[in-house]
Amino acid sequence: MTELIPEKFYVCTGDITKIQADAVVNAANSSLLGGGGVDGAIHAAGGRTILAACRQLREIRYPDGLPPGAAAATTAGRLRATWVIHTVGPVWKDGTRGEPELLESAYRSSTAEAQRLGCGTVAFPAVSTGAYGFPKKLAAEIVWRTLSEIITENPGSIRKIYLVFFAAKDEELFVKTVRSLGGYACP
Ligand code: ADP
Repeated sequence: MTELIPEKFYVCTGDITKIQADAVVNAANSSLLGGGGVDGAIHAAGGRTILAACRQLREIRYPDGLPPGAAAATTAGRLRATWVIHTVGPVWKDGTRGEPELLESAYRSSTAEAQRLGCGTVAFPAVSTGAYGFPKKLAAEIVWRTLSEIITENPGSIRKIYLVFFAAKDEELFVKTVRSLGGYACP
């Protein structure tokens, strides 16, 4: 666990389904009906009530699917979290199709949803950097800028943000990128 902003912003490596936080963010796809990667892991660990709630979201609020950059919450089922906030990151094409803005929007929408629900702690995965192919270093720059801004300026109910990587080398790349941007608070 690396503390990037004391008592406010932490990064770690592990399985996000094991994290205790008020909300866990899911890197979902627009269908909200499950997928691989984090999405598959969250549905597998959290159980069928999450899928049932996603189906309801589709029926009631998002008949055409959750658009990229948006976020919507459901129960967290059997997870240790209270909420799962499903967000859809951009699929990386060539960087000129609004991918950076959509990635930022996925983090901002998820945070807004967490604030609306009164969450104190929120855990994020590295949205779009798996199957969706977003370059990890560019994602690190965008995610650091976005989350550090949110947690220091306008956190609402949110006291702590965790960014959870699945591979130690991804966490290392993130921390290295933050350092190169002059933002790493701890030695
Ligand atoms: P996307 O489709 O948005 O790219 P993926 O789930 O394919 O989403 O990958 C996003 C990131 O989540 C990847 O960096 C991957 O290594 C990571 N990941 C996969 N499973 C888990 C998990 N159980 N906990 C945390 N991170 C995970």
